[in-house]
Amino acid sequence: MLCRCRVKAARWISWSVDNPGQWYFKCRNARGLTARVFCAQEGGCDFFAWHDGPTSSFLRKVLNDLRDVVVSLRMEKAYRVKEIEECRAKVEEQRHEVDSVRRELASAQELVCE
Ligand SMILES: [Zn+2]
Repeated sequence: MLCRCRVKAARWISWSVDNPGQWYFKCRNARGLTARVFCAQEGGCDFFAWHDGPTSSFLRKVLNDLRDVVVSLRMEKAYRVKEIEECRAKVEEQRHEVDSVRRELASAQELVCE
């Protein structure tokens, strides 16, 4: 699909609440998409077109729910990764403590044997 400035309009996918999972066409010269704006209008090309017709309300609800689940799982994953990093640091710290206690114990045993 060609836009008004005769550039092939790129296809994007919408994740807005009203139009989740909907493909749409937007010019590559649109404001916010790229710095190389060579359209006549200032602020970029405002060309916009939906790829398909409107989604059914059922599908819209399902897609919005799925998007929310994906977002919350991503947040949970990030939280878990941080937790694991903190646990690794603690394990490393405790390993050093165990090593130093072992060294103390070994020198104490040497004293007892002498
Ligand atoms: Zn354009």
